[in-house]
Amino acid sequence: MAGKNVVMFGPPGAGKGTQAARLVELISVPHISTGDMFRYHIKNGTDLGKTAQEYSNQGKLVPDDVTIAMVKERLGRDDVKGGFMLDGFPRSVPQAEALNGMLQEYGMPLDHVVNISVSDDEIRSRLAKRASIEGRADDADPAVIQNRIDTYKSQSEPCLGFYEEQGTLRNIDGIGTIDEVFARIEKVFQ
Ligand code: AMP
Repeated sequence: MAGKNVVMFGPPGAGKGTQAARLVELISVPHISTGDMFRYHIKNGTDLGKTAQEYSNQGKLVPDDVTIAMVKERLGRDDVKGGFMLDGFPRSVPQAEALNGMLQEYGMPLDHVVNISVSDDEIRSRLAKRASIEGRADDADPAVIQNRIDTYKSQSEPCLGFYEEQGTLRNIDGIGTIDEVFARIEKVFQ
């Protein structure tokens, strides 16, 4: 099997979380979702949660220094030595650069950046659907949804050039059923 140091990348609503949850079953690595980590802190009312809430409620990214420190601490633990699945990180070029630095420091280079691509119209309709099913505050408001898409385009998408150059980028067509998309991802790991 190919390497197991993985980033799951894509716009909000691309199905990153769903596909990441399946992929961690296949390759048996910890699922590290920065969105879930922030939601945990928000739920528990920690200082980090209060900061995260301010930004995520508006569809904005939590500041890089806060996010990078949280991920660095997580990747320093022993359970990631055999691989990891980062879901929702990096989401900016400074985060991608910081990730490279910490992985170099920890001696575990990145193997695959699985990029799930879907169109803007598809993102909008998926996020609206998720808002009604899960009741996520950041999916409910059309202005917040547009903000999340704009944030993705301006801050997150530029990471793709970085990974293309690095040779770790694996582009996956995100249109189709969950099974169809997963079958495409599975091929990367065969
Ligand atoms: P997600 O569940 O991945 O869509 O994340 C929900 C929210 O958490 C995002 O809209 C951001 O406000 C915040 N967040 C998650 N991951 C990151 C990250 N890598 N950098 C900055 N903010 C993040």
